[in-house]
Amino acid sequence: SLQYTPLQEIDSIVAHSKECYHERQVHLSQTKNPRATDLKLRLKELQSLYFGLKDHEDEIVEALKQDFNRSRFETFVIELIPLYNNILHVIDNLPKRIQPQKIAESGRMFKLSSVNVEQISLGSVLVISPFNYPVLLSLDPIAAAIACGNSVVWKPSEMTPATAAVLEKILVSSVSSSWIKVVQGAVQETSQLIKNPNFDKIFYTGSTRVGRIVAQEAAKNLIPVTLELGGKSPVFITEHLSPSNLKKALKRTFFGAFSNSGQTCVSSDYMLVHESKLKQVKELTAEVLDEFWPQLHSESDVTSMINDAAYEKTIEKLDATKGNKIQPSNKSANLPPRFIPPTVIFDVEWQDSLMKGENFSPVLAVITYRDLDNVIEEVIKNHRNPLALYVFSQDQQEINQILTMVKSGGCIINDTMIHVAASDAPFGGIRESGHGSYHGKWSFAAFSHERTVIKQPFWTDFINNVRNPPYTSNKLSL
Ligand code: NAD
Repeated sequence: SLQYTPLQEIDSIVAHSKECYHERQVHLSQTKNPRATDLKLRLKELQSLYFGLKDHEDEIVEALKQDFNRSRFETFVIELIPLYNNILHVIDNLPKRIQPQKIAESGRMFKLSSVNVEQISLGSVLVISPFNYPVLLSLDPIAAAIACGNSVVWKPSEMTPATAAVLEKILVSSVSSSWIKVVQGAVQETSQLIKNPNFDKIFYTGSTRVGRIVAQEAAKNLIPVTLELGGKSPVFITEHLSPSNLKKALKRTFFGAFSNSGQTCVSSDYMLVHESKLKQVKELTAEVLDEFWPQLHSESDVTSMINDAAYEKTIEKLDATKGNKIQPSNKSANLPPRFIPPTVIFDVEWQDSLMKGENFSPVLAVITYRDLDNVIEEVIKNHRNPLALYVFSQDQQEINQILTMVKSGGCIINDTMIHVAASDAPFGGIRESGHGSYHGKWSFAAFSHERTVIKQPFWTDFINNVRNPPYTSNKLSL
């Protein structure tokens, strides 16, 4: 079982992280070219992290198998490959991003000055991670924080203990201890961390409920936060979709609904199907589920629910919903523990329990609609500001209407989930689904401060003197 960090040690770990950061700044300040030296230090840590992960890939895969029966294939596709891409993207772009940006046009007053924007590191950063993508959603922000020159304190999810332990081992052996410290634990340990006034930033990924607690604690110390939260992301299967594209639309929706057994922040949570498409959608659903899972048995490569509570909550919701359920037809009674077969459930109503919170399970609720205006109003009324919005349509007017009315963190037309993997596009939520974003240059913004640095020559006083007293009226007419 996972060893939690003793509560009485947490504050000194944070203090030490801050001291390490401070010592590094002192060292940099004494070098000839602090920015160039800093760049070298950061790149060294990032490269070492990258190879540390690569070298221990099999152990990571094994840990995820142990934590929730995740298959090697899924771990590569949804975590390791995007993570490697993102770390390499950060490394490739760091020399460019670390350069000050010269502002060419700052107005007439600054014609003789030099105006630059510098990215400066923040200090010691707390990264809190969720269970569902415990590698990607931990290492992605950690790599970005290091790239921006910060020291990191990382709090992994206690719900994936094997992965948390393996990643701690990899981090400790590949990244210098002045850059990374790990605090293992659950609610108590995290509560103590978020009360600590010494952090310069908190980057939190997890549920909206806990995000609110993190934001409140951080606000007491005016610590800036990035909150990557959850939401109930709708999929629109609209009237204006040619029959030949409907099967593709369902395959893409199911990829988003059932990867990681639906335990994905941007999963396809519910599907809004135009009534003219319902009959065909039902037929194709059965067909696609059987193509994706020709057989389900105890040895199948499928991810389980994270724990008994999540499993039971899903079974309860399924039992409470009257709608017509479609699952892969060929499944044995002998399934992996805590595994729920992918389920599409038709004839769901807005008031059903499946439509209350995020489902976070391999259950896709289907609501049928007739009138687009009405269904958009229902989406906004029930679950405004989802983390993602997916629209399958070939009518630009209809796409515009949905995108204008439903505000979401991200959006994809004719696919699901893949926006997370776009290395240089902002990923983040809006209001209840989070605030702030990261990836690419947005990661850089999340973990740096943009400081305006103006350098003023002394010889410009013949102009500058105009701003000084005495305030004679002829100075205004200049
Ligand atoms: P969670 O909120 O339960 O836990 C996240 C972290 O917070 C964990 O490290 C946990 O130890 C800590 N924590 C839990 N309760 C706490 C409390 N009361 N006080 C302080 N800390 C506490 O989330 P989870 O179940 O691990 O992850 C699933 C949720 O995260 C879903 O809502 C999902 O949508 C969301 N999520 C969002 C993103 C995103 O990028 N926006 C990504 C993945 C998951």
